[in-house]
Amino acid sequence: MQILKAQDMGMCFGVRDALAKTQTISNPVQVTIFGQLVHNPVVNRRLAARGFGMVDERSRDRLPDSTHVLVTAHGISEKMRSALLAAGKELVDTTCPLVKKAHAAAHRLQEKGCHVIVIGTPGHVEVNGIVEDLNSFTIVESPATVQTYPFTKLGILCQTTTPSTVAAAVRAKVAKLNPQAHIQFIDTVCQPTKDRQTALEELLNQVQAMVVVGGQNSNNTRRLVDRCHQRGIPAWHVQCAAELQQQWFEGVQVVGLTAGTSTLPETIDAVYHALSTIARSPVAQPLVPSPAHRWRKRNQSSVTGSVRRHRAGTTLPANRIT
Ligand code: SF4
Repeated sequence: MQILKAQDMGMCFGVRDALAKTQTISNPVQVTIFGQLVHNPVVNRRLAARGFGMVDERSRDRLPDSTHVLVTAHGISEKMRSALLAAGKELVDTTCPLVKKAHAAAHRLQEKGCHVIVIGTPGHVEVNGIVEDLNSFTIVESPATVQTYPFTKLGILCQTTTPSTVAAAVRAKVAKLNPQAHIQFIDTVCQPTKDRQTALEELLNQVQAMVVVGGQNSNNTRRLVDRCHQRGIPAWHVQCAAELQQQWFEGVQVVGLTAGTSTLPETIDAVYHALSTIARSPVAQPLVPSPAHRWRKRNQSSVTGSVRRHRAGTTLPANRIT
């Protein structure tokens, strides 16, 4: 079995910088991370082991007890920031600059009198941080949920990890269903997300199956998995090398490897090495010509432990996504 790596994959600069900032904190027990620093269980376990306090993302309406509060790369609303500062908290801000750009775009659209449509995942912390400052907004996850809106000015922006194809399709559907409205679109999908999506598209032309590495609650990772299935390529979503199962690759001749933006390089390396071991095993050696179609068929509906295969068009539960 041949293993092809995506040209662009894994940790983005926003996550890297947020992690680097935690390294500069000399007394982690005095700091509460306001949510998950990144949607990666390996990283979060390490931070907890260093002594950082953590607040569940769904409990951010309660202010932490500690004086120092670390704002995650996903950002927070100005309302939330003001509440924390008013309560005397000192903020360690690791908000990604590209998330800040999305916030600024939302404010600009609101100032122009637009009803703001945020293309993204309802309940996601980044999306919450954006819409909490808006008076008039709708969150749209896919073209299927676009409606006719009773406004003459519509402004559209994206959660930073939205696939560009989804953003384009939503934008077109909004225009189609709202001919009465003046529509302004601001593309706030971040460049690292675009780069990983582009690299995945290229890889999907060359492989029979994919392994996608990242947190199960990582939105951008799950979007990569979804894209594989939309293109008809089976994909395994794993968080670490230990989750790989040899039998998944029976008869696969070429497998692709990619990873979400919060995946550590060492985790990707470990998955690659585990795949290499599987590639040398008899299981991965094709017994008859072109067995991949049978492999795909057999694996179309399997679910194994915490390793989920997502089918095209899956709607992700709001509390499980990043
Ligand atoms: S995925 Fe994009 S927006 Fe999110 S932290 Fe990385 S660079 Fe920033």
